[in-house]
Order: sequence, then structure tokens, then C-alpha cells
Amino acid sequence: PQFAAVNLRSVLNNVILLMESLALGKNVALEFMPGEDVAVCGDVSQLKQVWINLVRNAIEAAPKGGSVYIALRTDGDRAVVSVTDNGPGIPEDILPHLGTPFFTTKAEGTGLGLSVCYSIVQRHGGSIRVDSRPGEGATFTVQLPLANNTA
Ligand code: ADP
Ligand code: MG
Repeated sequence: PQFAAVNLRSVLNNVILLMESLALGKNVALEFMPGEDVAVCGDVSQLKQVWINLVRNAIEAAPKGGSVYIALRTDGDRAVVSVTDNGPGIPEDILPHLGTPFFTTKAEGTGLGLSVCYSIVQRHGGSIRVDSRPGEGATFTVQLPLANNTA
């Protein structure tokens, strides 16, 4: 993997473009309000894969006509990206299994998306947090260390 400065705003714009047709097919609104540039140090294609997987899950969880909202911000020395859907949320009893390879509740799921996300984010020194609001939706929040701009 090639670690270099990665602009998360452009990564996320790219992910939106890639996932647009899946969202359109379900009439799910895919929203991203790009604010400031946020840079982390990492492998751009691996990082892109993290949000491809999270946004795919969010679109799959959202109801027809629903919405998926992506937000990018910083918090201290961390970049914070959240992906929020208005699907059913995640049942309490399956929360501990998220990220276990091959764990899926979908008829045609592989159960690999989240495990890939967790390992990529871990390799980048970050973390993933899951918030579920039963009946209202779920939010997956990725935190990554900001790139050191002191060069
Ligand atoms: P897959 O999508 O192939 O099932 P993942 O690893 O991407 O595999 O996700 C594992 C499981 O986590 C899903 O089957 C689903 O039960 C749950 N999950 C993931 N994202 C969401 C979400 N946004 N809303 C509800 N459940 C989710
Ligand atoms: Mg998935």
C-alpha cells in the first residue's frame, strides 16, 4: 500500500459518483456537503473502499425514497466521516457481530464489507463507531488521524 497525503473531500466526491447509480435505482438521495479540505495520510484506493462499503450498506439499508447523508469534519487531530441512513437501524443482538468476516443478514450478502472496512481503518490508525437508532437508522463514523501538515 502507498501511504501519501489523501484529500478526503475528493475521495468522498469520488465515492458518491461511484455509488450514484445504486442510489438512483432505489430512489435514495445521496447527500454530501463538502466543506473544508481534510487530509489524512493513507492509501487512497483502500480508503475509497472503506466508504464504498459503508455507503453501499447505507443505501441497501435505506428504504425506497430514503436518504443517505455523508458528513466530513475534523475533531481535534482527527478527521471524522459519518455515513447516516434512515433504514431500520441495527438490532442490538447483531451489533457485536459487525465486522466478523462472513457475518451477513442479507440473502445475497457476502458479509465481507465491514470486515474489510475495519481492517483498512485499523491499518490507518483509526477507528469505526456504530450508532444505531432502531426504526430510524444507523450511523457509521470513521475517525482517522489528520495528516501532519508541518512539512
Ligand atoms: P453484507 O453487506 O454483505 O451483509 P457487511 O459486512 O457489509 O456485509 O455488513 C454486515 C451486516 O451488517 C449486514 O448484513 C447488516 O446486517 C449489517 N449492516 C451493515 N450496515 C448496516 C446499516 N447501515 N444498517 C443496518 N444494518 C447494517
Ligand atoms: Mg455490505
